[in-house]
Amino acid sequence: MNIVTDPKFAPPGSILSAEANQAAALATATAILTVDLDAIIANWRKIEKSAVPAECAGVVKANAYGCGAEQVARALAGAGCKTFFVATLDEARVVRAAVPAAAIYVLDGFFQNSGEAYARIDVRPVIGDLNELAEWDVFCRRTGWAGGAAIHIDTGMNRLGLTLVEAQGIIPRINAGDHGITLVMSHLACAETLNHPLNAKQLATFREIASLFSGVPASLSNSSGCFLGAPFQFDLVRPGCALYGINPTPEADNPMQPVVEVKARIVQIRNIEKGESVGYGGTWTARRPTRLAIVSAGYADGYFRAGSSNDGTRGAEVIVAGKRCPVAGRISMDLMAIDVTDLDKSAARRGHMVTLIGEGITVDELAHHFGTIGYEVLTSLGPRYARIYKGGAATEQPAAATPEPAPVIPA
Ligand SMILES: *Cc1c(COP(=O)(O)O)cnc(C)c1O
Repeated sequence: MNIVTDPKFAPPGSILSAEANQAAALATATAILTVDLDAIIANWRKIEKSAVPAECAGVVKANAYGCGAEQVARALAGAGCKTFFVATLDEARVVRAAVPAAAIYVLDGFFQNSGEAYARIDVRPVIGDLNELAEWDVFCRRTGWAGGAAIHIDTGMNRLGLTLVEAQGIIPRINAGDHGITLVMSHLACAETLNHPLNAKQLATFREIASLFSGVPASLSNSSGCFLGAPFQFDLVRPGCALYGINPTPEADNPMQPVVEVKARIVQIRNIEKGESVGYGGTWTARRPTRLAIVSAGYADGYFRAGSSNDGTRGAEVIVAGKRCPVAGRISMDLMAIDVTDLDKSAARRGHMVTLIGEGITVDELAHHFGTIGYEVLTSLGPRYARIYKGGAATEQPAAATPEPAPVIPA
């Protein structure tokens, strides 16, 4: 176990051991976020095995979906992951420091005058329009830099990427050799819906255009795309959310292991009368004499206000002493009230931890209560948690001799 603590909280002059510092930080933490690096590795291996012979990259943008880019990249590299995707150059710097030998692609692309910054840390832009490509070329010609870049082609998402006509326009350059392009990629818009017509359309379009980039590895699939079958896998797959335990196949059971656990402390127990209201706006009224546990986490920690309850609507639930208990009233910035009336009196006490994510409460369930998706829940987890990392000391395993067939969800 490895907790990240801020040295400024260490008592002056103290030379506590790392273990003593961890124990001290945990004892005083109001909320704890645990990231299971072994589960992330297991999730990556599962997709990696099913994608063989395609390579399996790791998407670690947005601080590895809130899980810690440095820790996650290092753990995945230890498990054999050789290619990473981030959104920005700042993120690339963090990942480069953690994984010195990996290939790193920057999804948001190339800005004029950012060539030096790419070259300095040896990372590759994902180029999504012809202006970017021209600027990249100027930089490479001027400096002799040959660190590689991806070409992103739009096949129906209409976000980033060259149009098909633009992509066709650069084929002569690819055929001329020495083009510096190390990957040709596109991105699926609807991969989490198995039978969405756009999947087949994007696949056909990408297959055709990618085949013209002869000798350049191709990549189409995000996490959900990895579960659409072998034709979607090409030479490299780019899972993100599935590594962090989000269900990439929302129409079927989650094939991934949970990764994140969030606990927060009960700071007060209070008893209220029938008819009293709770929280800002007084939106929730006790229908019986009620025991409340006031818990030290709120929307500033990424527990969305949309998880609130009122007299008409149930909100989210948390686990107190092994049992599900409902949120009472509005979630506030730093606190929330939980109705623990149905528990034994001694089950919930000041100082106890309750579970906001974990023990059966999944990121996807919480996202449903919050009216959003698991991605937003994970990337919103706030900076106040004491963070614990479990596991992650994987050693590289030899590739499986016989590739497993690609998983396909039944229609
Ligand atoms: C974020 C992203 C991914 C990973 O997507 P998930 O749905 O999280 O697996 C892959 N490719 C691109 C271009 C992305 O922006």
